Amino acid sequence: MSKGRNIKWVSRRDFVKYASGGLLATSTLMASKAPAVQSRSPLAIDGGEKAIKISCRAEPRWGEPELKQLSDMLKQGTLFYWGGPQTELLIQRFREVCPVEYVQTCSSGTAAIHIAVAAAGIGPGDEVITTPITDIGTVIGILYQQAVPVFADLGAATYNLAPADVERKITPKTKAIIAVHLMGNPCNMDALKKIADRHNLILIEDCAQAWGAKYRGRPIGTIGHFACFSLQNSKHVTCGDGGVVGSGDQRFGPLLQKFGDKGGDRRKWGGHEVFATNYRMSEPQAAVAAAQLTRLEEIASKRVKLGNLLTEKISGLPGVIPHEVHPDDRAVYWFYMFRLRPAELRCNRSQFVRALAAEGLSVSGGYIAKPLYGEPIFQNHSFFAGRWPIKEMGLTGMDYTKVKCPEAEAILQTCIRVFIYEYMTEEYISQVAEAIAKVARHYAA
Ligand SMILES: *Cc1c(COP(=O)(O)O)cnc(C)c1O
Repeated sequence: MSKGRNIKWVSRRDFVKYASGGLLATSTLMASKAPAVQSRSPLAIDGGEKAIKISCRAEPRWGEPELKQLSDMLKQGTLFYWGGPQTELLIQRFREVCPVEYVQTCSSGTAAIHIAVAAAGIGPGDEVITTPITDIGTVIGILYQQAVPVFADLGAATYNLAPADVERKITPKTKAIIAVHLMGNPCNMDALKKIADRHNLILIEDCAQAWGAKYRGRPIGTIGHFACFSLQNSKHVTCGDGGVVGSGDQRFGPLLQKFGDKGGDRRKWGGHEVFATNYRMSEPQAAVAAAQLTRLEEIASKRVKLGNLLTEKISGLPGVIPHEVHPDDRAVYWFYMFRLRPAELRCNRSQFVRALAAEGLSVSGGYIAKPLYGEPIFQNHSFFAGRWPIKEMGLTGMDYTKVKCPEAEAILQTCIRVFIYEYMTEEYISQVAEAIAKVARHYAA
């Protein structure tokens, strides 16, 4: 790994290290103890030549367009969002990505989901089915509405909700499904929509990792009742922190502004009608976000190309399950995630990751440390000052110590994330595939 590249990659790798809790490959490597088999070239970890021979230089993620927007913004008399030109521009550009009638900008992806959950009328004791492999922001709003996250299991290589298990988890208390398009790979929306319609449930799309993705040619976020996006720093486009919530539904859309802004309707003031917090996004953030959206298509299309190329090149390798994407969908690879089939390999995941790192790969074993239900806050049911009022009141019998999603747990035990960035080249990704192939063939049982 060249020194220059090391420096360039530090900030985002550090973020990942902080955010994932996963095992990050380091450059201090120990020799593998697995018995060597004859292979075309020895692994770099055993002193062979590295598979990654070129480096990619990180490009700045912001510059002239953001500067221009910020400078326009500073000429304004007010930096408040309501009626603000930056907010209006952001909403207009958002609609080009996700064409829905009602749009509310807000302070985070977590806020966007909380607004959606509240606008959907989800309340004490209601159940919302979602995935246990996601950012905790997916379920924070559910819990704040005194509702209950119910975790369903996942597809083995899509890492998205398995519709059959979603249906199994439905009870008379179920009110909604939150479909998380993990890593930018669209969920099976036809199946989830059918289930939602059959059981009269609200369908919320968590598109935080899926800017620019398409489900069967349709923009992500336009199939469910709500679309929730994040503009946090690690996402495809960002203003540091921010979010957008949208809806094309006439019942819910008009409520978004109220639920994002202290419970009052700014178009037609009728006082504080509903209980809601302040999730507003100010004009400086909207200015940066609006400028960032002009970069989205280039960022997304590049990641689509690189991720799909990697799948093409690592398909059929022993012990390796590529990221599964439907051929008619557009996955935008927030990360690329593949899995190992331990029975087909003579090494464990950390050995595999160390060998990849030695080949020069920027890679990390695992994603979040545990499925969400395994986190202390869930195991202790201690959401509100150490208590969970709805459980004490008998509105839910949920016991997270008894929840198990076997496939989700297996995914977290066997997954490896490959970092995909828009500044990478196809040649570089081909070498990434070479590295994975070399290591997989070496350790093939
Ligand atoms: C980032 C993220 C969120 C939360 O977004 P924030 O802006 O960090 O609050 C929610 N869901 C998923 C899938 C995410 O990746």
